[in-house]
Amino acid sequence: MTTNRRILNFIDGHQVEGGGRWFEDINPADGEVVAEVSEATAADVDAAVRAAKRALAGPWGKRGVEERAALLHKVADGVMARLDDFVAAEMADTGKPLMPTRMGEIPRAAGQFRVFAEIGRVTPMEMFESAMPDGRRALNLVHRVPRGVVAAICPWNLPFMLLTWKVAPALICGNTVVVKPSEETPATAALLGEVMAAAGVPAGVYNVVHGFGPDSAGAFLTTHPGVDAITFTGETKTGEAIMRAASVGTRGVSLELGGKNAGVVFADCDFAAAVAGETRAAFHNCGQICLGNERLYVERPIFERFVAALAEAARGLRMGDPMDKATQIGPLISRQHREKVLGYMEKARAAGAEVHAGGGVPELGDPYDRGAWIEPTVWTGMAEDAAPVREEIFGPCVHVAPFDDEDEVRTLVNDSPYGLTATLWTRDLDRVHRLAPALEVGVVWVNEWMVRDLRTGFGGTKGSGIGREGGAHSLHFYSETRNVCIRT
Ligand code: NAD
Repeated sequence: MTTNRRILNFIDGHQVEGGGRWFEDINPADGEVVAEVSEATAADVDAAVRAAKRALAGPWGKRGVEERAALLHKVADGVMARLDDFVAAEMADTGKPLMPTRMGEIPRAAGQFRVFAEIGRVTPMEMFESAMPDGRRALNLVHRVPRGVVAAICPWNLPFMLLTWKVAPALICGNTVVVKPSEETPATAALLGEVMAAAGVPAGVYNVVHGFGPDSAGAFLTTHPGVDAITFTGETKTGEAIMRAASVGTRGVSLELGGKNAGVVFADCDFAAAVAGETRAAFHNCGQICLGNERLYVERPIFERFVAALAEAARGLRMGDPMDKATQIGPLISRQHREKVLGYMEKARAAGAEVHAGGGVPELGDPYDRGAWIEPTVWTGMAEDAAPVREEIFGPCVHVAPFDDEDEVRTLVNDSPYGLTATLWTRDLDRVHRLAPALEVGVVWVNEWMVRDLRTGFGGTKGSGIGREGGAHSLHFYSETRNVCIRT
């Protein structure tokens, strides 16, 4: 199927056809080609980085934080005024259902411009007064200054939300940005260029280059010497490559990477809340959430009852027409990703898994059978070192295992190359205070899942990343501090 829609790069305030090939943007709900996307060459990426450098030296660099904050509020207004366009673009790129996209992801993505505008506006600068040996004093003013040109490399799972999570704090700190959205989800990044221009954001402050990773726009951008810092969200292996690229020129890097997060359900929990919460944690966004739980440990007295309830909830999740308000989960991002997830389903069978729900491809009829749908799947019975229990699948699959005591479950949760989040379900507060700080992760949720207050630091330990973003942590990453010491 061909399309007339074209998605261009956005460089120096203009829609630009790149010098590379055209690649297809496919809707994984039905396999339709929704757009042809113009790949940026090394020369296009260079033009974007140069435009971003010029913008730093231009009017943008002279604006104060109040002016930048006002502009970010206008950008948020502009996104919300075109909510239908953003929702349609995100749904076409990902196959996501209407309700979570329209009620959740896009408004939240727009809201990040407002939140970071305010965080930038109200966070004070440091000031220390020093006593000097001669009895005089010195004032140390610590200014926050922009790092310069920030490269933002984004994934496909929450495309617009994870893009504004980087762009909003980068801009409030006075940087300029070159964004490389995922090749799977280029549309909302491109649309944002239109909104930025209409809001009066100067040319060159926000640029978008499209393409892939190695030997394409991603690698051209991260190895470009004009880039001063790199913020990346994606797979751990890609993060390692980006860290290597950032080491040339010792540039700052923030990495939000993969996870193999565990949920822990104690027998004293609110059972219904735990089942509902873990159903979301395992299957929301078709399991394509870095914060999702692919491992579950359930205290033995309630293990069988819990597995039965979770499997029933998984079977009850509604798939199909993304425009139907009752649809709860969409497809995987692509047929290629489905092959990977199906590979883990094979490995699970080989590892002796018992399948309590799902385990294959659903029959949804035309046109969805041309898409990348997969069934929410619940497994038990695998050893802890089996690949589906150890490796990030990034699909709607969860393995449930029983445990007998707190020490045992702490060891199980921590025995992972990743350390992004953990989720505890219990009514025992002493236990929460003992266990939560002992978990080697960046976020622990208790009796909830995926509540994210943007003022808190977010990030992972071990293979889940380096650094924290969110609130003042974002200001630290997207700024250099400059200590001006004045003798009084
Ligand atoms: P990915 O690593 O395949 O791609 C992410 C981005 O990096 C894409 O834009 C891609 O084109 C680009 N890229 C790939 N190779 C590159 C290279 N060598 N140089 C420069 N750029 C390169 O990740 P994905 O498949 O898009 O996203 C899924 C992954 O993201 C999962 O592992 C998930 O856990 C992780 N993720 C983490 C978080 C978090 O906050 N920790 C959030 C969302 C997703």
